[in-house]
Amino acid sequence: MLSTVVLVITYLILLLVWFALWAVFLRLGLRWAKIEGITSRRILRVTTLVFAIQVLSNVGAGVLAWRIAPQIVWAALVPLVTGLLVPWWVIAHAFQTRLRRSFQAWVPTLAAGVATALVSLVLVRPFLVETFSIPTNTMAPTLLGNHLKGTCPDCGRPSVAALPISVLPSLSGRPQLMICENFHVLQGMVGSRVFPGDRFLVAKYLRPRRWDLIVFRNPGEPSEQYVMRLVGLPGEEILIQDGAVWANGTKQTPPDSIRNIRYLSEFPNARGKVWGSVNHPAPLGADEYFVLGDFSANSEDSRFWSEGAPGHPSFAVPRSHLRGVVTHICWPPQRWRILR
Ligand SMILES: [Zn+2]
Repeated sequence: MLSTVVLVITYLILLLVWFALWAVFLRLGLRWAKIEGITSRRILRVTTLVFAIQVLSNVGAGVLAWRIAPQIVWAALVPLVTGLLVPWWVIAHAFQTRLRRSFQAWVPTLAAGVATALVSLVLVRPFLVETFSIPTNTMAPTLLGNHLKGTCPDCGRPSVAALPISVLPSLSGRPQLMICENFHVLQGMVGSRVFPGDRFLVAKYLRPRRWDLIVFRNPGEPSEQYVMRLVGLPGEEILIQDGAVWANGTKQTPPDSIRNIRYLSEFPNARGKVWGSVNHPAPLGADEYFVLGDFSANSEDSRFWSEGAPGHPSFAVPRSHLRGVVTHICWPPQRWRILR
């Protein structure tokens, strides 16, 4: 709830900043182009009209990207074109001037877009909210990367193949490891159509709780950012047994949305230690976390890491590596979901 409120307010403030700056820069542009009859009322009218058309064309681009165009990039051309041509024409019409002078008056308004983008870059992204996507399906079915679909032989619901798209074409025609919406992990046939992965929002201001999906810098390779589910908190000893997570000897009950997950820790063919298994419980320090992927049979997570951050065991995500908590799946629209 908090994250949704913050999201809406942030979006509205950014719109307001753009609106106010656009009006200010339009006034400067009109003076620069020596256009007559500049009044606050006219400026407000032009700004409101341009603003409304811009918002509508953005919505149109969203629908286009969702239903028709395969790439968001192509649909983004719509607001770009309306952003260039519409204000130019509206200014000319409202101030009864030639298109050449209207163009001159319009040019400074470009700074409004740049300034709003800067506010977003400097204040919103580092401190409030940022969008992310993932390249793999280790978090399926909760978060998806680009994926191939099948049907669960058990419950008939859609399944997602485990392997990354880059590997799959060479294996087509053979059964693949899949996970369905109900967390059934089975072998089955997948189609050849590639479905796009999720885009999701990550809040920077939330304190992570157990079962949150968190974004963090990979302990062994800090330049890479991972998304996994937080299952172990500072000071706990983590054990994975009977498909569940145990912390300091107490079985942890996951939220309803993931009650069918069976976490795995027995891997007879594992090359190294499996942290969290009966033989290797994972003791966490005062500022360390333990993370797992939702597709437990297909996830390189705290259990398997061999290289940790300096001064920390290999399975631990130090607090300093945390980047945020996943709050919403925002794209594609049919995957919209509030996670926290
Ligand atoms: Zn199923």
